Amino acid sequence: MNKIIVLIGAPGAGKGTQARLLQERRGIPQISTGDMFREMKTLDTPLAREVQEIMASGKLISDEITFKIVQDRTSRPDCQNGYVLDGYPRTAVQAEQLESLATEQTKMIHAIEVDVPREELMRRLTGRRSCPVCGEIYNVFSKPPRAEGVCDEHPEALLIHRADDNEDSVSTRLATYDELTKPLIDYYQNSGRLTRIDGTGELEEIYAALDKLI
Ligand code: AMP
Repeated sequence: MNKIIVLIGAPGAGKGTQARLLQERRGIPQISTGDMFREMKTLDTPLAREVQEIMASGKLISDEITFKIVQDRTSRPDCQNGYVLDGYPRTAVQAEQLESLATEQTKMIHAIEVDVPREELMRRLTGRRSCPVCGEIYNVFSKPPRAEGVCDEHPEALLIHRADDNEDSVSTRLATYDELTKPLIDYYQNSGRLTRIDGTGELEEIYAALDKLI
């Protein structure tokens, strides 16, 4: 493949779910900046504390810090033949930084917009729960686990409701998306590197559409 797949879509559009499927089924590494920042929670450093605070508010971490973790992670051998970026880039500066990274890594960028109407996003985000062991994503409305509150595969672990999936943070995240990230759709469109998939409907249908594009 040797491409950088950029999944662009609002919070709750299902980028993470689809990227995880691509990783499981096609072995393409999923690089999620949100997951990497959440993993920092276990560290007790001033930077880790600052990151958790910014995340909980729904605002963005600085472009410099974010680029550094993307650069480090994508320089590992598993990314040599390409990878999927989930939640990156989110600003014009990040998009520019990614251009130079792509050049350095001799990879093409292919952006895919995952489109979901606004009303649906709020419902998805406030209902979202995830397994702390395997990261599987559930939704109390649309994809409940077999037993309430626990993962199907890890019944010993209680599902987590993300700290930034409350209504206040969700509003901030959606506003940030509109202001800073959505313009990147035009940016990739204008350079002929964008395709779009419908992010509503059955998970397998969405995956099939995505799989065909890659
Ligand atoms: P996500 O899981 O992608 O919704 O990301 C959760 C939070 O992590 C965001 O609301 C930001 O605070 C932070 N974050 C994730 N990706 C980025 C990024 N590319 N740039 C800045 N902050 C990010």
